[in-house]
Amino acid sequence: MRLSAYFLPLLKENPAEAQIVSHRLMLRAGMIRQASAGIYSWLPLGFRVLKKIEQIVREEQDASGAQEMLMPTIQSAELWRESGRYDDYGKEMLRIRDRADREMLYGPTNEELITDIFRSVVKSYRDLPKNLYHIQWKFRDEVRPRFGVMRGREFLMKDNYSFDIDQKAARHSYNKMFVAYLRTFARMGLKAIPMRADTGPIGGDLSHEFIILADTGESAVYCDKAWLEADILAEAANVDYENDLQPFVDKWTRLYAATDEKHDPAAIPADRLVTARGIEVGHIFYFGTKYSKPMNAVVAAPDGQMVPVEMGSYGIGVSRLVGAIIEASHDENGIIWPESVAPFKVGLVNLRASDKKCTAACDELYAKLRAAQLEVLYDDRDESPGAKFATMDLIGLPWQLVVGPRGLAAGKVELKHRKTGVREELTPEAALQKLAS
Ligand code: ATP
Ligand code: MG
Repeated sequence: MRLSAYFLPLLKENPAEAQIVSHRLMLRAGMIRQASAGIYSWLPLGFRVLKKIEQIVREEQDASGAQEMLMPTIQSAELWRESGRYDDYGKEMLRIRDRADREMLYGPTNEELITDIFRSVVKSYRDLPKNLYHIQWKFRDEVRPRFGVMRGREFLMKDNYSFDIDQKAARHSYNKMFVAYLRTFARMGLKAIPMRADTGPIGGDLSHEFIILADTGESAVYCDKAWLEADILAEAANVDYENDLQPFVDKWTRLYAATDEKHDPAAIPADRLVTARGIEVGHIFYFGTKYSKPMNAVVAAPDGQMVPVEMGSYGIGVSRLVGAIIEASHDENGIIWPESVAPFKVGLVNLRASDKKCTAACDELYAKLRAAQLEVLYDDRDESPGAKFATMDLIGLPWQLVVGPRGLAAGKVELKHRKTGVREELTPEAALQKLAS
């Protein structure tokens, strides 16, 4: 993509409405634009990141055996009356009437709808387990939408729902998601700590929030200081889903980590305790028959008895992650994208667009990068080097390939690594090779 043709409305000044760094940088880098409070348009640069994150989430869900589908954003109020949540949900639910005066709503989550689909199709334990997910926009009319995409009203969520015949099988489904979440966040360069979370009126200990530590986080969290060093992520990458996952989950839930609601000062010696702020990027929840009972989602057990199916639900804040990753990875000059979610891998910088030789060399590199299927944003604009460097640092592409007349005369270009700041003088061929490796 040529920057001269790209829709990238950068802001020079810090927008006054943005209180945290990710919101500030997303606005300044032209990634999003507010449509109304807590509702955003995703501009091309931001949309590319959103899609990359979505794809990682998808691949790890698929790897765990979950199956993708798509449910609508608009749901019928009737189903929510069956579960009793239509009245419980309160003002966070956006309620709509259609032209026939039917009560509809913009889905804040999908337990009711998926349970309805399930009960109309699955009748026997032989068809279990099932784990279904979708990646769809949600609406929650939050009291205080803020921090950009971190607490929006309309936001993109991956949510899935597991169905099992008994508690033991449901536990295995839960454990699979526990592992899948660690792998998902690790691929985005994040250390998400699974923290014991509130299960509400159902009780039990099967709920974890996946939290990344950040000063700007909205939740107060507590964990063992060993978490700061722990290499749970490398271990998760090697887990085989076919195995019993309980030993892995036990090992990593033994190390203390709890959200505010679940914190028990007596459970951890004061000298091991870290008190911090955190951002919730995912949440897994086993809730048994909470929905299957009232909604009569029953299946035939091996003994012929009809029993309500055991369920869990699992969410990942896909759009929140864009902000969360920036909170975890930036410096005073801008964003530092992990390669896995970067909108482009390389920024190609032409230092002198008015110089024919320099431009010819850049055009050639641009063609070669594209031929090698490397995602490249080519700054071909007639701007000062300072402005170009500032733009590249702001939008945070992992690599900057800088081409100027002086270097070219010596047969060299410069390759800068955004994260480390390390610069190397290389021949164009060597630079291409390094980027392709
Ligand atoms: P929170 O405690 O932050 O309000 P929640 O516990 O209500 O979130 P869940 O129902 O667990 O949210 O939703 C699953 C995931 O969706 C959360 O872990 C979070 O990453 C994301 N999410 C929830 N609410 C929002 C929001 N208003 N804006 C962006 N992402 C959100
Ligand atoms: Mg939650």
